Order: sequence, then C-alpha cells, then structure tokens
Amino acid sequence: MGKLFGTSGVRGVVSKEVTPELALDLGLALATHLGGEGSVVLGKDPRTSSDMLESCLISGLLSGGCDVKRLGIVPTPAVSFAVRRLNAKAGVMITASHNPPEYNGIKFWGSDGIAYTPEQEGAIERIYFDKRMKPAAWDRIGKVGAVDILPSYIDELVGVVKLKRGYKVVVDCGNGAGSLVTPYLLRKLGCEVVTLNSQLDGFFPGRGLEPSPENLGELCNVVKSLGADIGLAHDGDADRIAAVDEKGRVAEPDKLLALISAHQVRKKGDIVVTTVDASGTVDEYVGVKKGKVIRTKVGDASVAAEVRKRGAIFGGEPCGAWIFPEVHLVPDGPLAATKILELLDLTGRQLFELLDELPEHQTVRKKVACSNEKKAATMKEFKERLRKEFKGISDVLTIDGIRFSFRDGSWALVRPSGTEPYIRVTAGGKREKSVEKVAGKATKILKSLV
Ligand code: MG
Repeated sequence: MGKLFGTSGVRGVVSKEVTPELALDLGLALATHLGGEGSVVLGKDPRTSSDMLESCLISGLLSGGCDVKRLGIVPTPAVSFAVRRLNAKAGVMITASHNPPEYNGIKFWGSDGIAYTPEQEGAIERIYFDKRMKPAAWDRIGKVGAVDILPSYIDELVGVVKLKRGYKVVVDCGNGAGSLVTPYLLRKLGCEVVTLNSQLDGFFPGRGLEPSPENLGELCNVVKSLGADIGLAHDGDADRIAAVDEKGRVAEPDKLLALISAHQVRKKGDIVVTTVDASGTVDEYVGVKKGKVIRTKVGDASVAAEVRKRGAIFGGEPCGAWIFPEVHLVPDGPLAATKILELLDLTGRQLFELLDELPEHQTVRKKVACSNEKKAATMKEFKERLRKEFKGISDVLTIDGIRFSFRDGSWALVRPSGTEPYIRVTAGGKREKSVEKVAGKATKILKSLV
C-alpha cells in the first residue's frame, strides 16, 4: 500500500509531489469516504499554488456529491473552528505550514474539529490507491458557496482572555495567513499593534516561514527600537507561535512552552501533554504547580488525541504548536498570542523576567540530510549502535524516534522528520558542553550511516 500522508497531511513540492491531479483525486476520495453527502469547509494559506489546488479539491468534492463552503485564506485553526461552527462533515486546509514557498500540502479535519488521525488518513489512502473513488450521479453533484468565517473566529478568541491593560506588541506574520487575524484580534483586546510582514504574499518575501531565531532578527530589532512590550510571530498558516522579549531576544521555545504549560495548570493533578522532543524544563515547571506531564509522539494530531483522551488542560510542542482545549483541539497561533499576553497580565511581569527565572536548560537542535527511503534503515542501525556508542544511558523511549536519557538528567532525541528529508537530533541538559557533545556525536554517527 502506498503512502500519501506524513506527520501533517500530504506535503511536498508543487507540481512534482503535490499536483492538481492529486488534489482532484483526494477531493473525490474524501467525498467517497464521507458517503457522498454533507458539506466540507475548505481553507487555504496565501501560497501561489493554493488557488490551483483549491479549484481541484472543489471539483473533486463536488463530483463526489459533497457541498463545499469556501473559507478563502484563513489560518489553519480557523478551519477547525469552521467545521464545528458550520456543522460540516469535514474540513480541508491547503497549506505547507512553515515549508518554503514552492511547497504546498493538504490536510483533513473531522466533524469534531480534530485533524484526521493516521487511521482516518489510511482510509482515504486505501480509497485512493484502490481507485475506489465514486463520482455522484448528475443530479447528486454538490454545490459550492463562500463563508466569511474570520469575524466569528476572531470574536470567539476575543472572549477567551481579558487584559487589565493594553500592551505594545509587534506582530510578525511572515506574510502568511495570520496577517488576517492576529493584528486585529490583539487590537480588539486593547493592545497597540505594530505589524511586520503582515501583508499576504505567497512568495513570502519578508522572512523564512519557520518562526525560529534565524528568521526573527528583524522582529527582535523592531521590538527593541520601538520599546515594545513583546514581539509575536507565526509560521505560514498561523498554527504556531514564537515570542521576542522586551530586550529583543527570541524566547527559547522550551522555556516558553514551560511557562505557558505551568500557566495553564490551575490545580493539583492537572495534565499537560507534550511531545518526546520537549525538554525537561516543562516537567520541572509543571511539577512546581503539582501538575502532571504526559509525553506523546511528535505532531499535533497525536497531541490533540492525547489531550482529549486524558482530559488534559493543555497540549504543546516546542515548535510553538499549542492546543488550548477550552476553545478547541487544534494548535492555534492567534489564541496562543492572547495566552502569552494573559500570562504577562496576570503575573504583572515582563516576559524577560519570567524567562530569566526559569532553570537553565540548554537545548541543541541539529539535522542530518537523509532521503525518505533511507530513513528507516538509518534509524534501525542507529538504535543497534546506541548503547555501544553512548555510555551511561539510563532510559530509552521509542514511542517516536529514539529518545535516550542519561543519569545526570540530560537527554537526546533522534527522529526522522515527517515532512522533510532530514533526521533531526535534539539534545538537552543542564551543562552546555555535554549537550553539545551528545548532539555532535549523534550527528556524526548518523552522517556515517547515511
Ligand atoms: Mg503550521
């Protein structure tokens, strides 16, 4: 059986891997899976290929007998919101998230507003590969209409937090879909917003789409020179968040995750879900508030499923994909932005003060180029050599990639990327030198194996 879906839907280079024909077939396959009836909401990010893929998905869905409600350009979490608000049978988002502009992708949502699980994606794959797509008869073909969902999505988010004062915020949307929401949302909450890269542009001229330190230099400078309270940034489809403190420093993702996790814990025993690639700082900080941390596979679908299963209060990944189940079970960048401001408001502190208080924990992230075909064999060999190469391992976790920890509390994760041709190495611990050493050694072994 072939595979179409990675950790975050179908993703690839446009016209090579993600073609109009594929979009058409996937639209029809989804309609077949839904029994050829009901409505599907459809959103897209501002990529140059999004209109093309949207047209094909619409044709496929209509041909399969489903009605389509076009949302136009929206952040990914607005699709999840729209599915529930409009009582749709499914949602589809056209996006390649943080990937470069030549990429695009297609991701599905269920009627509960949760991203399709690997099992649901498998059902679509089987229909696609077995060529069981079923076009409807002429009198059962679907209809298409447009819905302006963003005003009600923004209203919903405005109702979640109350701020005692307005903050001066610089918002950098990377020319992505967040441009249509976050600046307006924060203004409605009483903030003074200065925008950066917040006009839609599918060439993404402003910066790289991953909200990582190397792409946020301009935001850091603007926050500092304007004397703003904080800078906030999204990836291309605004399901992720990053923050810059008053001093113009990008908040270390693991520290920010630890802060917001602890912020969400209200009472003893509250559960926080995070992934195998998150540092131990989350456990330490959540532990102080007597909360409990549970780890899952990397990927928001896994986090969302675990949050629902455990009745967790929060689910977050160090990449900045944060789920607040009080609103919905999807990572939501604009909502995360309001939650960071709420944290500042309730503590009456600036972000840099909160960050500087956290226990020092170094995290090093590296990646080794590796083709998708070679990933499995390379990981297998790495696992076989693990205990011979690294001394003093106390624990090995293999729910997703290989996470191994040492007696001094340091740890490392070696894991093939689900969306790109890399194997990623993440290492963390209290002593910078030993963290660098472990990450360097793992990288060297992987390079020799590839
Ligand atoms: Mg994203």
